[in-house]
Amino acid sequence: MDCIFCKISNKELPANIVYEDDQVIVFRDIQPIAPEHVLAIPKKHIPSLMAIQPEDKELVGHLHLVLQKVAKELGVDEDGFRVVTNIGPHGQQTVFHLHYHLIGGRQLNWNM
Ligand code: 5GP
Ligand code: ZN
Repeated sequence: MDCIFCKISNKELPANIVYEDDQVIVFRDIQPIAPEHVLAIPKKHIPSLMAIQPEDKELVGHLHLVLQKVAKELGVDEDGFRVVTNIGPHGQQTVFHLHYHLIGGRQLNWNM
């Protein structure tokens, strides 16, 4: 499949990986908007939050626990941070493989 995040998860494309297990991979965004900006994705190709199925419940729950762990490892857990998933044209989604932006390391505003 011609999906850049599938290619990152199967190592066809390089990325700066900060966490990986059998289900999930977390890597630095290529165009960070804050000192800490990583993308947490399931290795399974799911196009967006709207395509999550009941059988993905464990996976999505696990992804949230990974976000917690990575936030601690990046040292943003005490000051706080933001987790964002963009969906569709109004959400300005540009990569159609489910991903959660974890953004922190500076004061964020509602418009980032
Ligand atoms: P979206 O706009 O779909 O929510 O987010 C896609 C994100 O993926 C953007 O923040 C963009 O900078 C990042 N991105 C796009 N291509 C690559 C890539 O090849 N490598 C990495 N590490 N990030 C990418
Ligand atoms: Zn994919």
